[in-house]
Amino acid sequence: MSDTPTYASLLARLFSGSPEDREAVMAHLGRHPAQAHAVEPEVRDRLRDEYPRTRTIAAEAMLRLFGEPEPNTRAFSALERFLELLDSAPVLTPSRPALDPLALSFQLKLLWLSGYLPHLTSCAECGADDAPLVGYSPQAGGAVCRACGVGSLPLSPAGIGGIETLLREPLASASNAGLSERAARDALRVVTASYEYHGGFRLRTLSA
Ligand SMILES: [Zn+2]
Repeated sequence: MSDTPTYASLLARLFSGSPEDREAVMAHLGRHPAQAHAVEPEVRDRLRDEYPRTRTIAAEAMLRLFGEPEPNTRAFSALERFLELLDSAPVLTPSRPALDPLALSFQLKLLWLSGYLPHLTSCAECGADDAPLVGYSPQAGGAVCRACGVGSLPLSPAGIGGIETLLREPLASASNAGLSERAARDALRVVTASYEYHGGFRLRTLSA
């Protein structure tokens, strides 16, 4: 890539290019933090406004650019698989693309690849494994019990089960995971809270 690409050309290759284009753009932006911050507002806008395909590219870009310094080839493999599936499968909840189980599954897997997988099997704050988990705390890194849950985001048992299912099952099975709307909303809340806490950015209009 040229040493002085325009921001428009960077964005065009990031959102319309091949996976190799995206990889090259991400690598370039990783070496030029000032340019990464210059394109950040556009990436944010796309996260907020666009359709699932573009949005997940934007989400991935945000995780890559502002989540960790190293390129993550496994994230790109997941992204490629996700895009294949998105092209071949209908979105089941077109009125709320953010609740599409495939998009949620993809984003949860990205969080896992980024090392930000929410801990859901015991209280992430006190470690209790015999208390019902009632909330999600990005600061604690996962679900928390009632005693530790002050200020946490509400998380239902269906939501915890749904997130575990989406993480366990391959992307191709996400749309058949039987996610209730409540579970999908909880999963979206965990994803957006994790983005905000770990990536430092908000998805205001995507919040459930
Ligand atoms: Zn606790």
